[in-house]
Amino acid sequence: MSFFFPWQLKLAEIYLKNKNKIYANIIYGSNGVGKFEFAFSYAASLLCESDHDSIACGICVSCKLIAKNNHPDLKLIYPEYMNKFEISIEGKIFRYIDIIENNHLSKEIRIQQIRDLLPWLNITAHRGRKKIIIIHSANCLNEISSNALLKILEEPPLGVVFLIVTNILHKLSPTIISRCQLIHLPIPAKNVSLNWLSNATKLDSLNIEKYLAFTGGAPLKSFFLIKSSNDICPMWIMELLCNIYENKNFKLYSFLDVNFDKMSLFEWIDFFQKLYFDLMLTKFNDDVRYFIEIKNTILKISNKIDISSIMNMIIYLNNKNLLINNNNNINARLLVNVLLQKIISQIK
Ligand SMILES: [Zn+2]
Repeated sequence: MSFFFPWQLKLAEIYLKNKNKIYANIIYGSNGVGKFEFAFSYAASLLCESDHDSIACGICVSCKLIAKNNHPDLKLIYPEYMNKFEISIEGKIFRYIDIIENNHLSKEIRIQQIRDLLPWLNITAHRGRKKIIIIHSANCLNEISSNALLKILEEPPLGVVFLIVTNILHKLSPTIISRCQLIHLPIPAKNVSLNWLSNATKLDSLNIEKYLAFTGGAPLKSFFLIKSSNDICPMWIMELLCNIYENKNFKLYSFLDVNFDKMSLFEWIDFFQKLYFDLMLTKFNDDVRYFIEIKNTILKISNKIDISSIMNMIIYLNNKNLLINNNNNINARLLVNVLLQKIISQIK
Protein backbone atom coordinates (compact mmCIF):
# COMPACT_ATOMS: atom_id res chain seq x y z
CA MET A 1 0.00 0.00 0.00
CA SER A 2 1.38 3.38 -0.96
CA PHE A 3 0.62 6.81 0.38
CA PHE A 4 2.23 8.57 -2.56
CA PHE A 5 0.21 10.37 -5.20
CA PRO A 6 0.44 8.61 -8.59
CA TRP A 7 2.67 11.34 -10.03
CA GLN A 8 5.13 10.96 -7.14
CA LEU A 9 5.52 7.21 -6.92
CA LYS A 10 8.36 6.69 -9.42
CA LEU A 11 10.28 9.65 -8.07
CA ALA A 12 9.93 8.34 -4.52
CA GLU A 13 11.22 4.92 -5.55
CA ILE A 14 14.27 6.47 -7.19
CA TYR A 15 15.21 8.57 -4.16
CA LEU A 16 14.40 5.83 -1.63
CA LYS A 17 17.06 3.61 -3.23
CA ASN A 18 19.64 5.81 -1.50
CA LYS A 19 17.67 6.10 1.71
CA ASN A 20 20.50 4.92 3.93
CA LYS A 21 23.13 7.20 2.45
CA ILE A 22 21.56 10.64 2.64
CA TYR A 23 20.49 12.35 5.84
CA ALA A 24 19.48 15.82 4.62
CA ASN A 25 16.97 16.45 1.85
CA ILE A 26 15.20 19.50 0.48
CA ILE A 27 11.87 18.74 -1.16
CA TYR A 28 10.75 21.65 -3.33
CA GLY A 29 8.17 22.46 -5.97
CA SER A 30 5.18 24.70 -6.75
CA ASN A 31 2.17 25.06 -4.49
CA GLY A 32 -0.38 22.31 -4.97
CA VAL A 33 1.84 19.48 -6.26
CA GLY A 34 1.67 17.55 -2.97
CA LYS A 35 5.00 18.36 -1.32
CA PHE A 36 3.84 17.67 2.23
CA GLU A 37 2.20 14.35 1.38
CA PHE A 38 5.40 13.38 -0.42
CA ALA A 39 7.52 14.29 2.63
CA PHE A 40 5.12 12.50 4.97
CA SER A 41 5.03 9.34 2.86
CA TYR A 42 8.79 9.52 2.40
CA ALA A 43 9.16 9.66 6.19
CA ALA A 44 6.74 6.72 6.52
CA SER A 45 8.85 4.75 4.03
CA LEU A 46 12.06 5.52 5.94
CA LEU A 47 10.48 4.44 9.21
CA CYS A 48 8.62 1.39 7.83
CA GLU A 49 9.63 -1.81 9.60
CA SER A 50 8.85 -4.16 6.74
CA ASP A 51 11.93 -4.94 4.67
CA HIS A 52 10.15 -6.06 1.53
CA ASP A 53 9.81 -2.80 -0.31
CA SER A 54 11.22 0.70 -0.45
CA ILE A 55 7.71 2.19 -0.15
CA ALA A 56 5.95 2.13 3.24
CA CYS A 57 4.01 -1.14 3.65
CA GLY A 58 1.08 0.48 5.46
CA ILE A 59 0.58 -2.48 7.82
CA CYS A 60 3.59 -2.70 10.15
CA VAL A 61 3.57 -1.13 13.64
CA SER A 62 5.49 1.90 12.41
CA CYS A 63 3.12 2.51 9.49
CA LYS A 64 0.14 2.22 11.85
CA LEU A 65 1.68 4.75 14.23
CA ILE A 66 2.22 7.08 11.27
CA ALA A 67 -1.42 6.67 10.23
CA LYS A 68 -2.48 7.67 13.75
CA ASN A 69 -0.11 10.68 13.69
CA ASN A 70 1.52 9.15 16.69
CA HIS A 71 5.00 8.00 15.65
CA PRO A 72 7.52 8.92 18.37
CA ASP A 73 10.41 9.10 15.89
CA LEU A 74 8.78 11.63 13.57
CA LYS A 75 8.82 15.37 14.29
CA LEU A 76 7.01 17.99 12.30
CA ILE A 77 7.78 21.70 12.29
CA TYR A 78 5.90 24.48 10.49
CA PRO A 79 5.06 28.14 11.15
CA GLU A 80 2.40 28.84 13.78
CA TYR A 81 -0.04 30.40 11.32
CA MET A 82 -0.35 27.06 9.52
CA ASN A 83 -1.84 23.77 10.54
CA LYS A 84 -1.89 20.16 9.40
CA PHE A 85 -5.11 18.91 7.84
CA GLU A 86 -6.28 15.53 6.58
CA ILE A 87 -8.64 14.70 3.78
CA SER A 88 -9.98 11.41 2.49
CA ILE A 89 -9.69 11.00 -1.27
CA GLU A 90 -11.01 7.75 -2.73
CA GLY A 91 -10.73 6.04 0.65
CA LYS A 92 -7.14 7.13 1.27
CA ILE A 93 -6.20 9.70 3.87
CA PHE A 94 -3.96 12.45 2.52
CA ARG A 95 -2.37 15.15 4.59
CA TYR A 96 -1.55 18.73 3.81
CA ILE A 97 -0.39 21.86 5.55
CA ASP A 98 -2.34 25.04 5.01
CA ILE A 99 -2.73 28.52 6.41
CA ILE A 100 -5.31 28.78 9.20
CA GLU A 101 -7.89 31.32 8.06
CA ASN A 102 -8.13 34.72 9.72
CA ASN A 103 -5.29 34.40 12.17
CA HIS A 104 -2.52 36.67 13.32
CA LEU A 105 -0.11 33.96 14.43
CA SER A 106 3.59 34.00 13.59
CA LYS A 107 4.48 33.48 9.94
CA GLU A 108 8.02 32.51 10.86
CA ILE A 109 9.60 29.28 12.04
CA ARG A 110 11.05 30.58 15.27
CA ILE A 111 14.31 29.70 16.99
CA GLN A 112 12.44 28.07 19.88
CA GLN A 113 10.89 25.52 17.52
CA ILE A 114 14.39 24.45 16.43
CA ARG A 115 15.73 24.51 20.01
CA ASP A 116 12.85 22.30 21.16
CA LEU A 117 14.25 19.58 18.88
CA LEU A 118 17.56 19.31 20.72
CA PRO A 119 16.59 16.95 23.59
CA TRP A 120 14.72 14.71 21.12
CA LEU A 121 17.71 14.64 18.76
CA ASN A 122 19.93 13.26 21.48
CA ILE A 123 17.83 10.30 22.55
CA THR A 124 17.87 7.00 20.66
CA ALA A 125 15.01 6.22 18.30
CA HIS A 126 12.02 4.71 20.14
CA ARG A 127 11.49 2.10 17.43
CA GLY A 128 15.23 1.48 17.04
CA ARG A 129 15.39 2.79 13.46
CA LYS A 130 15.71 6.31 12.09
CA LYS A 131 14.38 9.58 13.44
CA ILE A 132 12.83 11.96 10.93
CA ILE A 133 12.27 15.71 11.05
CA ILE A 134 9.98 17.33 8.50
CA ILE A 135 10.37 21.10 8.35
CA HIS A 136 7.50 22.38 6.27
CA SER A 137 7.47 25.85 4.66
CA ALA A 138 11.17 26.09 5.46
CA ASN A 139 11.20 29.37 3.54
CA CYS A 140 9.65 30.77 6.75
CA LEU A 141 12.83 30.11 8.75
CA ASN A 142 14.16 33.46 9.93
CA GLU A 143 17.86 34.22 10.04
CA ILE A 144 18.32 33.02 13.62
CA SER A 145 16.34 29.80 13.28
CA SER A 146 18.02 29.13 9.95
CA ASN A 147 21.45 29.40 11.62
CA ALA A 148 20.33 27.08 14.40
CA LEU A 149 19.18 24.52 11.84
CA LEU A 150 22.46 24.86 9.98
CA LYS A 151 24.37 24.07 13.17
CA ILE A 152 22.43 20.83 13.56
CA LEU A 153 22.99 19.95 9.89
CA GLU A 154 26.71 20.54 10.28
CA GLU A 155 26.96 17.91 13.00
CA PRO A 156 23.97 15.70 12.39
CA PRO A 157 23.11 13.22 15.14
CA LEU A 158 23.39 9.63 13.95
CA GLY A 159 20.28 8.18 12.32
CA VAL A 160 18.42 11.49 11.99
CA VAL A 161 17.01 12.35 8.56
CA PHE A 162 15.88 15.86 7.60
CA LEU A 163 13.12 16.49 5.08
CA ILE A 164 13.09 20.23 4.48
CA VAL A 165 10.08 21.29 2.41
CA THR A 166 9.70 24.58 0.56
CA ASN A 167 8.05 26.14 -2.46
CA ILE A 168 10.70 28.89 -2.62
CA LEU A 169 14.11 27.26 -2.86
CA HIS A 170 16.09 30.51 -3.11
CA LYS A 171 14.75 31.62 0.28
CA LEU A 172 16.78 28.93 2.03
CA SER A 173 20.32 29.79 3.04
CA PRO A 174 22.85 28.65 0.40
CA THR A 175 24.81 26.84 3.12
CA ILE A 176 21.75 24.78 4.04
CA ILE A 177 21.08 24.05 0.36
CA SER A 178 24.69 22.92 -0.14
CA ARG A 179 24.34 20.31 2.61
CA CYS A 180 21.18 18.72 1.23
CA GLN A 181 20.07 16.43 -1.54
CA LEU A 182 17.58 18.37 -3.68
CA ILE A 183 14.37 16.56 -4.54
CA HIS A 184 12.34 18.55 -7.05
CA LEU A 185 8.64 17.71 -7.39
CA PRO A 186 7.60 18.93 -10.85
CA ILE A 187 4.10 19.80 -12.06
CA PRO A 188 2.74 16.42 -13.21
CA ALA A 189 1.93 15.65 -16.84
CA LYS A 190 -1.54 16.95 -17.72
CA ASN A 191 -3.07 13.53 -18.43
CA VAL A 192 -1.90 12.20 -15.04
CA SER A 193 -3.51 15.13 -13.21
CA LEU A 194 -6.66 14.84 -15.34
CA ASN A 195 -7.03 11.15 -14.53
CA TRP A 196 -6.48 11.63 -10.85
CA LEU A 197 -8.79 14.66 -10.61
CA SER A 198 -11.60 12.99 -12.54
CA ASN A 199 -11.51 10.03 -10.13
CA ALA A 200 -11.19 12.24 -7.08
CA THR A 201 -13.82 14.84 -8.00
CA LYS A 202 -16.09 13.07 -10.54
CA LEU A 203 -16.03 16.27 -12.58
CA ASP A 204 -15.85 16.02 -16.39
CA SER A 205 -12.48 16.46 -18.13
CA LEU A 206 -13.45 19.66 -19.90
CA ASN A 207 -14.15 21.42 -16.61
CA ILE A 208 -11.11 19.92 -14.90
CA GLU A 209 -8.94 21.30 -17.69
CA LYS A 210 -10.18 24.80 -16.88
CA TYR A 211 -9.22 24.39 -13.24
CA LEU A 212 -5.83 22.96 -14.19
CA ALA A 213 -5.27 25.90 -16.51
CA PHE A 214 -6.13 28.34 -13.73
CA THR A 215 -3.79 26.68 -11.21
CA GLY A 216 -0.90 26.31 -13.66
CA GLY A 217 -1.33 22.51 -13.69
CA ALA A 218 -1.17 21.94 -9.92
CA PRO A 219 -3.45 18.94 -9.17
CA LEU A 220 -4.01 19.53 -5.45
CA LYS A 221 -4.64 23.24 -5.89
CA SER A 222 -7.23 22.31 -8.54
CA PHE A 223 -8.70 19.67 -6.25
CA PHE A 224 -9.29 22.10 -3.38
CA LEU A 225 -10.71 24.73 -5.72
CA ILE A 226 -13.19 22.19 -7.13
CA LYS A 227 -14.05 20.84 -3.66
CA SER A 228 -14.69 24.28 -2.23
CA SER A 229 -17.43 24.56 -4.89
CA ASN A 230 -16.03 27.93 -5.80
CA ASP A 231 -16.30 29.07 -9.36
CA ILE A 232 -12.93 29.22 -11.07
CA CYS A 233 -13.44 32.94 -11.12
CA PRO A 234 -15.69 34.00 -8.20
CA MET A 235 -18.44 36.60 -8.73
CA TRP A 236 -16.67 39.24 -6.70
CA ILE A 237 -13.58 38.96 -8.90
CA MET A 238 -15.84 39.29 -11.95
CA GLU A 239 -17.32 42.39 -10.35
CA LEU A 240 -13.83 43.75 -9.73
CA LEU A 241 -12.70 43.15 -13.31
CA CYS A 242 -15.88 44.71 -14.75
CA ASN A 243 -15.39 47.73 -12.52
CA ILE A 244 -11.77 48.01 -13.57
CA TYR A 245 -12.87 47.79 -17.18
CA GLU A 246 -15.64 50.35 -16.87
CA ASN A 247 -13.51 52.56 -14.66
CA LYS A 248 -16.47 54.70 -13.62
CA ASN A 249 -17.06 55.73 -10.01
CA PHE A 250 -15.48 52.55 -8.74
CA LYS A 251 -15.47 52.79 -4.95
CA LEU A 252 -12.24 50.91 -4.43
CA TYR A 253 -12.05 51.50 -0.69
CA SER A 254 -15.54 50.13 0.04
CA PHE A 255 -14.91 47.25 -2.36
CA LEU A 256 -11.83 46.27 -0.36
CA ASP A 257 -13.73 46.66 2.93
CA VAL A 258 -15.99 43.83 1.80
CA ASN A 259 -13.61 41.69 -0.23
CA PHE A 260 -10.02 42.20 0.86
CA ASP A 261 -10.04 39.34 3.38
CA LYS A 262 -11.28 36.83 0.82
CA MET A 263 -7.70 36.24 -0.34
CA SER A 264 -4.33 36.23 1.39
CA LEU A 265 -1.71 38.70 0.16
CA PHE A 266 0.03 35.84 -1.69
CA GLU A 267 -3.25 35.02 -3.45
CA TRP A 268 -3.83 38.67 -4.36
CA ILE A 269 -0.38 38.94 -5.93
CA ASP A 270 -0.91 35.59 -7.64
CA PHE A 271 -4.25 36.84 -8.98
CA PHE A 272 -2.68 40.01 -10.40
CA GLN A 273 0.20 38.05 -11.94
CA LYS A 274 -2.20 35.67 -13.67
CA LEU A 275 -4.35 38.56 -14.86
CA TYR A 276 -1.39 40.39 -16.40
CA PHE A 277 0.02 37.21 -17.89
CA ASP A 278 -3.31 36.68 -19.67
CA LEU A 279 -3.44 40.33 -20.74
CA MET A 280 0.03 39.93 -22.24
CA LEU A 281 -1.01 36.76 -24.09
CA THR A 282 -4.02 38.48 -25.65
CA LYS A 283 -1.77 41.31 -26.81
CA PHE A 284 0.19 38.69 -28.76
CA ASN A 285 -3.09 37.23 -30.09
CA ASP A 286 -2.56 34.12 -28.01
CA ASP A 287 -5.24 32.30 -25.98
CA VAL A 288 -5.66 33.26 -22.33
CA ARG A 289 -4.10 30.71 -20.03
CA TYR A 290 -5.69 31.29 -16.63
CA PHE A 291 -9.00 33.17 -16.97
CA ILE A 292 -10.47 30.94 -19.68
CA GLU A 293 -13.96 31.34 -18.17
CA ILE A 294 -13.95 35.11 -18.60
CA LYS A 295 -11.89 35.37 -21.73
CA ASN A 296 -14.10 38.13 -23.16
CA THR A 297 -13.65 40.42 -20.18
CA ILE A 298 -9.88 39.89 -20.36
CA LEU A 299 -9.96 40.80 -24.05
CA LYS A 300 -11.92 43.98 -23.32
CA ILE A 301 -9.44 45.05 -20.64
CA SER A 302 -6.54 44.16 -22.91
CA ASN A 303 -7.88 46.49 -25.60
CA LYS A 304 -7.74 49.37 -23.15
CA ILE A 305 -4.15 48.85 -21.96
CA ASP A 306 -1.01 49.27 -24.01
CA ILE A 307 1.66 46.58 -24.07
CA SER A 308 4.34 48.62 -22.29
CA SER A 309 2.00 49.20 -19.31
CA ILE A 310 1.38 45.45 -19.16
CA MET A 311 5.10 44.64 -19.24
CA ASN A 312 5.85 47.28 -16.59
CA MET A 313 3.17 45.87 -14.35
CA ILE A 314 4.51 42.32 -14.76
CA ILE A 315 7.96 43.49 -13.63
CA TYR A 316 6.41 45.54 -10.80
CA LEU A 317 4.41 42.50 -9.59
CA ASN A 318 7.49 40.26 -9.70
CA ASN A 319 9.31 42.74 -7.48
CA LYS A 320 6.36 42.91 -5.07
CA ASN A 321 6.28 39.12 -4.99
CA LEU A 322 9.95 39.00 -4.00
CA LEU A 323 9.31 41.71 -1.42
CA ILE A 324 6.48 39.85 0.31
CA ASN A 325 8.49 36.62 0.23
CA ASN A 326 11.26 38.35 2.11
CA ASN A 327 9.23 40.46 4.50
CA ASN A 328 6.42 39.40 6.80
CA ASN A 329 5.57 42.88 8.07
CA ILE A 330 3.95 44.37 5.00
CA ASN A 331 0.70 46.33 5.18
CA ALA A 332 -1.16 43.95 2.88
CA ARG A 333 -4.31 46.03 2.50
CA LEU A 334 -2.33 49.11 1.52
CA LEU A 335 -0.32 47.15 -1.03
CA VAL A 336 -3.44 45.65 -2.65
CA ASN A 337 -5.04 49.10 -2.70
CA VAL A 338 -2.00 50.58 -4.48
CA LEU A 339 -1.92 47.69 -6.98
CA LEU A 340 -5.58 48.12 -7.85
CA GLN A 341 -5.18 51.86 -8.25
CA LYS A 342 -2.23 51.27 -10.55
CA ILE A 343 -4.31 48.92 -12.69
CA ILE A 344 -7.26 51.32 -12.85
CA SER A 345 -4.95 54.16 -13.86
CA GLN A 346 -3.62 52.04 -16.75
CA ILE A 347 -7.06 51.58 -18.32
CA LYS A 348 -7.66 54.20 -20.94
ZN1 LIG B 1 5.39 -0.44 7.19
